[in-house]
Parts: sequence; structure tokens; C-alpha cells
Amino acid sequence: MANIEWRILRQLINLEIFVVMKFIQRLFIAVGLMGICSNVANADGNPRYDGNDSAYVAMYDFITCEYWDNDDLTPYGDDFIPDTVHIKLTDEFRCFVMPVETKINSHYGWRWNRPHKGLDLHLETGDPVKAAFDGVVRYAQYNNGGYGNLVIIRHYNGLETYYAHLSKIDVLPNAIIKAGEVLGEGGCSGSRCTGPHLHFETRYKDRPFNPQEIIAFEQGCLSSESIMLTKSNFVIGKSNSSSTTFNSKSAKSKANLKYSYKIKNGDTLLAIALRNKTSVKTLCKLNKLKPDATLKIGRVLRLR
Ligand SMILES: [Zn+2]
Repeated sequence: MANIEWRILRQLINLEIFVVMKFIQRLFIAVGLMGICSNVANADGNPRYDGNDSAYVAMYDFITCEYWDNDDLTPYGDDFIPDTVHIKLTDEFRCFVMPVETKINSHYGWRWNRPHKGLDLHLETGDPVKAAFDGVVRYAQYNNGGYGNLVIIRHYNGLETYYAHLSKIDVLPNAIIKAGEVLGEGGCSGSRCTGPHLHFETRYKDRPFNPQEIIAFEQGCLSSESIMLTKSNFVIGKSNSSSTTFNSKSAKSKANLKYSYKIKNGDTLLAIALRNKTSVKTLCKLNKLKPDATLKIGRVLRLR
């Protein structure tokens, strides 16, 4: 009898030791990750980077140190609901490259009674698709949810870019990739594709926002070097739909054109002009502004 009790007691002690060891192990992993994240980051949260190879390793550690998953599309889950976030897009060492030099076929917004979380860029099957910014490949596989062959790259500033419906994937998960490197070939894979195009998304911690907030597709360049994203950027409302297609000149889309615009945090004249289908020149003329004028938040601009 005493033998059985002793055996149960020993098992309990072993269990306790196991639980304590597991806790200590997790603590070490957490402290280690914090170490990696804080070792390679500046005070502003961006990785220290001076263009040399070791800095690339630091960048890799920084990008992959948390919520890194090669199979889950949205690893942040509900942990992060971005409030206001300032994102630096380029600097002297990092540049932007258009994924494909082409026109927009379909915009971000509400479309066919459901949100279109990216925009569609015209291409032919087999056209090379390039990474927009430096980063690390987080996801590179066929996705059953409609994306088809999908590559997701996470960038040093926390942004992720999605490249969907590819006919061929040329990169492996966890590979470091530079802006302009070919990641695959365009196509029409996936159940939601009706013709060859690149479905391109920009996301911050899982939350999509309009790629046109940061990229001036018509000009093939960034709208600005940095951007301030607020909660409103992450809402795809039916009312703020921009789901007009490239060639659409319907009365409905004309009726949707606004005549005034209230300046928000992070706005630039170019971004306002592109969003509202006007030009910087027109905005400057109508509002007696210089192209490089500092925009006052809350000021209402005439658009047309
Ligand atoms: Zn699309």
C-alpha cells in the first residue's frame, strides 16, 4: 500500500517538475525573443540597418521574431487592432519596385457584395512578378481560400504584401528577398480568378488597407516616403467603396465623385488627388496651395 502511495507521490513530483521546467523553458524562449527583437530594433521599432550583410541577418531576425507562420494567412489573429501607426516605406538603403508595370483592372473596396481586400493589376500569364520592398517570404504555397498560388512577404516595417493567382512560385518560405526580385509568374490560379491578373494586397498585422494609400500606380512609384495609418484605413465600408473598374465611366461612379475632402493625419496632396480622381495641379489651383505645402489636419479642400 505504502509502495503505491509512494509511486503516486513520485509521479506527482515528476509532473510538477515537468510543469515547472516547461514554464522555465517558455520563459527563456520569451526572454530570448524579446532580446532578438530589442537587439535589432531602433527606438522607433525599425531594425538597425546600414546596408551591410550582417544588417540583413538582423533584419531577418527582426521580421521573423514574432507571429511568424508559414501556413497561416493571418497569424496575428485578433491580437492586434492597429490604432494609429506611422510606417516608413523607404530610405537611402531600401527602395520600392512596382510588382508589375501595368494598369489597375479592379480597385480595392466593396465589390460583388463582398470586400475586395486588394487591387487587381493587369498581366499576361507568365509575366514576372517582383517583390515591392525588401523582406522575408512568410508564405509561398497554393491557397484553397481563393488566392491560388500565393506569396506573402513581410517587410522590415511590419507591412505585408500579398501576390495572388500566380501560375508559378519562384521563392521558398523564409527566404530573404530584395525589392525587385522576381518571386513568381503571373497567372490565374485559385477559385476566385476569372482571367490572368495579379491580385495585390497591402496589410499591416493582418489588416488590409488600400494599396493606393501608399503606391501611385499610374506613376509607378510610392506616393510618399512614409504613411500614417489610422483605424479608418482598415475599414472596408460599403459607403467608401472604390470598386470602380479601370475603364468604368458609368453614371454611378460619376455620382460618387466628391467635391470636398477633409484632410486627415498622414495625407499627402498626391494621395488625396489619386483617391479622388483629380490631380495635384488642380488641388493646388482650387485651394491656392503650393505642391509642397504642409497640409493642416481638418482643413477642407475643394476637389473640383
Ligand atoms: Zn483581386
